[in-house]
Amino acid sequence: MKSLFDDSIAAQYQNDPLALRVYTSQLLGQNKDLVLHGGGNTSVKIDGVLYVKGSGWNLDTIEKEGFSPVDLATLIEMASRDTLTDTQMVKEQRAAMSDQSFPNPSIEAILHAIIPFTFVDHTHADAVVTLSNTPNGKEILEELYGKSMVIIDYVMPGFELARHIYLQTLALNWKNIEGIILLNHGVFTFDNDAKKAYEKMITLVTKAEDYLQKNVTFLSNISKGNIDVEIIRSLVHEVGVLRGCDIFPIVLDSDQAKALSTRPNLERLIKQGELTPEHVIRIKPFPAIINTDCTKGIEIFKTEYQNYFDKNSNANHICLDLAPRYAIIKGLGAVALGKDEKESRIIADIVEHTITAILSAEQLGAWTSLSLAEMFAMEYWELEQAKLNK
Ligand SMILES: [Zn+2]
Repeated sequence: MKSLFDDSIAAQYQNDPLALRVYTSQLLGQNKDLVLHGGGNTSVKIDGVLYVKGSGWNLDTIEKEGFSPVDLATLIEMASRDTLTDTQMVKEQRAAMSDQSFPNPSIEAILHAIIPFTFVDHTHADAVVTLSNTPNGKEILEELYGKSMVIIDYVMPGFELARHIYLQTLALNWKNIEGIILLNHGVFTFDNDAKKAYEKMITLVTKAEDYLQKNVTFLSNISKGNIDVEIIRSLVHEVGVLRGCDIFPIVLDSDQAKALSTRPNLERLIKQGELTPEHVIRIKPFPAIINTDCTKGIEIFKTEYQNYFDKNSNANHICLDLAPRYAIIKGLGAVALGKDEKESRIIADIVEHTITAILSAEQLGAWTSLSLAEMFAMEYWELEQAKLNK
């Protein structure tokens, strides 16, 4: 992975740390192997204020208006509390903003605040997360980075995670570390210099990429068949009825998509979690699998999704629609099933990156990410459910 940092462009932002923050955030966002569609977040601390990515912004297109100004001392104080619901956290973060016209700060704002460096960069880098989503992931990462990284077991994003990292790093000498890896989730790098924070990310992700390149080879024995138009037509119909809207299908027939669709352990693989937890909001915890009978495949998905909901929900949860966001067509590839082109492109991107990660992890022992219960906690998170109530 190459650094895209251009000193001559950065020079014009020399006396404007927020402009520099915008610049390197966009550089991170331009690389889909680092973040996808709204994933990741960045921040800069200026005169006691944390400017942190606001919700609704994507790193590749973020501007100054995308960085919500939050009082730094308030955020650090919040990290030291024993308990706080995420709803209350969002409310208090909003109250600590010096300008209410900005969007809600990222739910990882507290985490950014407690890292004692000016620039903090957070991505869901494919290579690092892929390694972490294997049975020996933690050991591999420890070996790769030595003591330069703090490696943290998976904790659901939000207050819990911020509090967990706050406690884990209380006695830490920050000067000795290059970054933090959140297993099954992503990476943080930081520095008082924007370029250094950004390039630390590039360097450490490259290490993981090199490891994958050495240890993973992609199979060449790929089926040549194509997904039948009739299957796509009937998927669009069945899923459209379930979701109550039109469906815009996008076919995924890359070598990787075809390879995954022929795996004998496909059923197990697709229920072993997402690349990074927030993807569940976009693609649900698992796809439909279509053998030959489309109606039957969708029916099975519906039942399995309902079971997943029943098993993990309590009386306060509102069940989401029972329509899959994508389907894997055995032996032939996959189809993204969003409600319009925009949503289907997002799904297609996430699924392509996930499939590459699954196939790589399988060669490193097995693909093992989050449990269905952990994915449920994310998909039915109180902040997501609150949006439904509105
Ligand atoms: Zn994250």
